Amino acid sequence: MKKVGILWVSWSIGSQTIDILKNYRQDFQLISVSAGKNITYLREVLNEFPEVQIVSVSDEKEAIELQKSYPKKHIFYWENGLNEVATADIDILITAVVGSIWLIPTYKAIEKGITIWLANKETLVTAGKIIMEKAKEKGVSILPVDSEHCALFQCLKAGEIQEVKRLIITASGWALRDTDISKFPSLKKSDVLKHPNWSMGQKITVDSATMMNKALEVIEAHHLFQIPYENIEAVIHKESIIHSLVEFIDGSMMAQMGTPDMRLPIQYALTYPERKKVIWHQYLDFTKVTSLHFENHISKEKYPCFYLAKECGIKGGIYPTIMNAANEVAVEAFLQEKIHFTKIIEIIEQTLTLFQQKENLSLQEILDFDRESRIKAQEIIKKISL
Ligand code: MG
Repeated sequence: MKKVGILWVSWSIGSQTIDILKNYRQDFQLISVSAGKNITYLREVLNEFPEVQIVSVSDEKEAIELQKSYPKKHIFYWENGLNEVATADIDILITAVVGSIWLIPTYKAIEKGITIWLANKETLVTAGKIIMEKAKEKGVSILPVDSEHCALFQCLKAGEIQEVKRLIITASGWALRDTDISKFPSLKKSDVLKHPNWSMGQKITVDSATMMNKALEVIEAHHLFQIPYENIEAVIHKESIIHSLVEFIDGSMMAQMGTPDMRLPIQYALTYPERKKVIWHQYLDFTKVTSLHFENHISKEKYPCFYLAKECGIKGGIYPTIMNAANEVAVEAFLQEKIHFTKIIEIIEQTLTLFQQKENLSLQEILDFDRESRIKAQEIIKKISL
């Protein structure tokens, strides 16, 4: 039986993980969970999985309240709580959240030798080099829950890494796919938060609309699979049936396809290296898939975030950290309706100009630059009016 911890059980990936765990009680034991403000859902989880021992919530008041209801559990809060959840007596940690705040708990789990199933791409974007080096040193597997990377991971099993010609990441679709750029100035938050194929959290849905998400995924793939940037491409594939492809040097291409449902990569993560029958899932009837479209042109005018973020990944050093932090702050400001959608790129660009390149950063330096760039991005936002 595998022991599982989930960082941020109340978010989209976390709650979908819970749905799967309910179906495989004989195979998994849920040991530790963190949650944010959704205490009602957290209580549901704790009642459903009484074996949970370690719990983290966002503040002390909530922790005290929860402790009254569950006197035998260890209840923690905020940063210390996240570290307790990540370093509990578990075999697998699922980092089911967005944002770079999860860097330290993830790093601590790696130090403890816990297998990481990563649904948090920001960790690798902001600190990919240091995380992968630590994982290598500790012999820890970092495996992807992101649907595209899970697809690449499966396709890569068909050959050796030195036989790879290209990784091709599909951009599955986004809210603004069919919206003309002339309409961008009048976009509302609700227009951006519509996603045709995938049901995801708000931050990642905005990142999908800017295609920042796809650039973050290119950076994530570069670190995870140790493939040079020039051998990683993104293509637009509107049906979201093929989740990514690997081309090998002999011309063979492997593609992973399936219904667009995040529970598929999550279940693969949990049961890996085995595969298990799905109970909740509609199997893909591929005979009903009459056509698949691919487009390798990603408009620079419509999706400037994609190009800027990818460039930051290629430059490496300080740039991915600054870019990622500025994006998180800008997206949050957009979600709070403090800035317009089209200002997200400006905030990232302006923040980047305030920093000089620095290579081989320590974990502490990454955290310092992350914090500093968030402050700078906030200052820029204050100057921008809607
Ligand atoms: Mg993805």
